[in-house]
Amino acid sequence: MIETYLQNIHQLKNLLLTSSKKIIITIHHHPDADAIGSALALYHLLKKLKHDVCILSTSTYPSFLSWMYGIDDILIVQEKNPSKANILLINADYIFCLDYSSLHRVNFLENFVKKTNAHKIVVDHHLNPDTFADLYIWNAKASSTTEIIWDIIKNIDLSWMDKNIAECIYAGILTDTGSFKHANTSQNTHRVVAELMQFQINIAKINQLIYDNNSLNKLLFFSFAIQKRLVLIQEKKIAYFQISKKDKAKFHLQIGDTEGLVNQALSIKNITMAAVIKEKEHCVRISLRSVGDIAVNQLASTYFSGGGHKNAAGGTSLLSLEETVKKFETIIHQNY
Ligand code: 5GP
Ligand code: MN
Repeated sequence: MIETYLQNIHQLKNLLLTSSKKIIITIHHHPDADAIGSALALYHLLKKLKHDVCILSTSTYPSFLSWMYGIDDILIVQEKNPSKANILLINADYIFCLDYSSLHRVNFLENFVKKTNAHKIVVDHHLNPDTFADLYIWNAKASSTTEIIWDIIKNIDLSWMDKNIAECIYAGILTDTGSFKHANTSQNTHRVVAELMQFQINIAKINQLIYDNNSLNKLLFFSFAIQKRLVLIQEKKIAYFQISKKDKAKFHLQIGDTEGLVNQALSIKNITMAAVIKEKEHCVRISLRSVGDIAVNQLASTYFSGGGHKNAAGGTSLLSLEETVKKFETIIHQNY
């Protein structure tokens, strides 16, 4: 697999070192630091190589990432006004799909991406990629897409790298590994970070911007959720939160403010699986975490049209919040 991975990076290098192309970078809906960090690092590389490049996102980014170099250049496209995105995608020579490999994760852009003739390039670390692309720079052993982007940059041209871009890459690795504590943290992950440190990245500053940047409302919401919305199924070693739209409205939450809640449940002694079941505008989203051999991506894909990694996955339900919780409880009692 690793040979194919390196060969594919080489193939990508050949594609990118020819003439200037129109390139669109897409990232998954509700992008996280890994999606945005990898998109920005790739964006700066492609611009350096004289391509015409644009990053499209179907939703805005959490405010704790607003320091990332180039983040204001991301074009946020709305479902109610999709024509600009459609035209950009139709006219693209290459489309990058970053940090996702199931097309539905790109939200309403799915069909636009599907029907273009552009050369589609997936750069991702999620399991079981869909087979829609022309080239896969795919490595499920990588901690993050940013770790893969580092391999790409190193193999193409490192001369232009600087602190700002190294910090985008570091942020993706940092958050996808849960600060280097998840099982996806490898020797290579630490090696890449050591290499990034050559660019004088400010590790203390980035950690503060990402983790110590909470609004008081967010903390009050977490406190409320732990007191009122946490369910413990002790005999199954499972804990989950059930969060309604009303709950969120009460605390005036901003985008990204529910991130990390699932880890509160997982941090409880002896708990081996945690979930946040969260009511959204048109659906219910489920966020799952586990430790050890419990594969929550299987749970997400079997029951909630989702997926992800063994220890971190997500999915969607079209049932009501209460019905989704009931379904989750039934699954737990039947399977765990
Ligand atoms: P989160 O709980 O942070 O939203 O997602 C955890 C992990 O599961 C992430 O790696 C994310 O990419 C993946 N994931 C979340 N939702 C979905 C989904 O609906 N489908 C798939 N295939 N993966 C998802
Ligand atoms: Mn990722």
